[in-house]
Amino acid sequence: MTEDTDHDGRVWLGTPAFPEAARTALADTRLRHNLRHATTTIRTKRLDATGEVPHWEELREAGAAIKRRTARHLATYLEQLEASVTAAGGTVHWAADATDANRIVARLVRAAGGPDTERHEVVKVKSMATQEIGLNEALAAAGITAYETDLAELIVQLGEDRPSHILVPAIHRNRAEIREIFAERMGEWGRAAPDDLTDDPKALAEAARLHLREKFLTTRVAISGANFAAADTGTIAVVESEGNGRMCLTLPETLITVMGIEKVVPTFTDLEVFLQLLPRSSTGERMNPYTSLWTGVTPGDGPQDFHLILLDNGRTDVLKDTVGRQALACIRCSACLNVCPVYERTGGHAYGSVYPGPIGAVLTPQLAGVRRAASLPFASTLCGACYEACPVKIDIPEILVHLRAKAVEAKRDGRALPTPEALAMKAAATVLDSPGLLAVAQRAGAAGGRLLGGRGGRIRRLPGPLAGWSATRDTPAPPRESFRTWWRAHREER
Ligand code: SF4
Repeated sequence: MTEDTDHDGRVWLGTPAFPEAARTALADTRLRHNLRHATTTIRTKRLDATGEVPHWEELREAGAAIKRRTARHLATYLEQLEASVTAAGGTVHWAADATDANRIVARLVRAAGGPDTERHEVVKVKSMATQEIGLNEALAAAGITAYETDLAELIVQLGEDRPSHILVPAIHRNRAEIREIFAERMGEWGRAAPDDLTDDPKALAEAARLHLREKFLTTRVAISGANFAAADTGTIAVVESEGNGRMCLTLPETLITVMGIEKVVPTFTDLEVFLQLLPRSSTGERMNPYTSLWTGVTPGDGPQDFHLILLDNGRTDVLKDTVGRQALACIRCSACLNVCPVYERTGGHAYGSVYPGPIGAVLTPQLAGVRRAASLPFASTLCGACYEACPVKIDIPEILVHLRAKAVEAKRDGRALPTPEALAMKAAATVLDSPGLLAVAQRAGAAGGRLLGGRGGRIRRLPGPLAGWSATRDTPAPPRESFRTWWRAHREER
């Protein structure tokens, strides 16, 4: 498990812990409305799209099996990938952590700067890996401006906001808010939005198209992530919906791809499975509008200089944990976010990580250190909806429980005295172990609970440390008769 001392992986954004951040998010009715509307729409589309594939379960199993095999032989496939990319004319770099990766990218951008060495700019395809390492901020510190070209990422960048969803980073914004951001900020970054901009989707898309076209045609370097990389051929795959990614991948002279090491798959034909699973699970579409595949460089066609940065950033540590490593199989489809009742109510920012929702709750504590993100494994009802939706069958509830144990252990570590929570658990274990003590506790609890509940039968606030429970829940007063009492009285009749 990655420890959080001297951590420079940057996946953790250092915002308040989940319970506090969630409370703020829950009070934001506009946010909740935007989220409910968006997740409900995507959920329905996903169910329709997956329901029409008769062998969907077999496809899921195939995807899970490929990912399991990849994890077992990761080093072999990565070395094979390096050899294939190099043979195809690309250059492979290995980055141990965020600092390492950012340094490599900045060096490559400077080297590719061309005659205008004062004006270092890059266009970017939407990429979780570069968000994870805080690339934009690192480039800015190095005097390089990064332009996001994915429409939702553009909204987030112009609005000086943070992404709140893996696939739809601006899911928390509605059309009126987007219009406002475009009208106010676009001019500062390039071509301004027209004065008469409305919140009609077509008008918004046209303003973004004109703004971005200027960037595509003048920027010499592009940075992308990768959805998959085939070890046998060295082919990299990026899937997206707008075509802006394809412009980045084809127009600039230099292409730098930052890829988490878990994105490798053994063979090119494995893509067949994932390119069916991903679009149906993420946007509820039968296939991606744009799937770009490239292998090294091709003279006279596309970028003539290609660099692949293989990012570890804690992944080999995650791989050592046989339960936790399942999270590395994630294909970032976001289906788990869209079905999660907790995500739907709090949104992505509450998770304090570039990886929100159920997958964020299991990936962030592993990448950033469980101590640093100790509240995240508890940011779930364990309802299992994420597991059912996941196209590669990641057992997220199992990992959550596993990480909860680690979070408790981490809290206990190095303390001379047990925590109040540990004492309470010990007391509960003693009571639950003894039927006599349990009966006494039940009677006392029931009497006290009824007193607190009053006539309405609802407890507004429990006393002392128990207040935390009633603060966020409807707490009914205990019934007059417990099940044990009822059972004793009616056993004979049954
Ligand atoms: S954990 Fe599964 S459902 Fe969630 S984003 Fe990853 S692949 Fe999709």
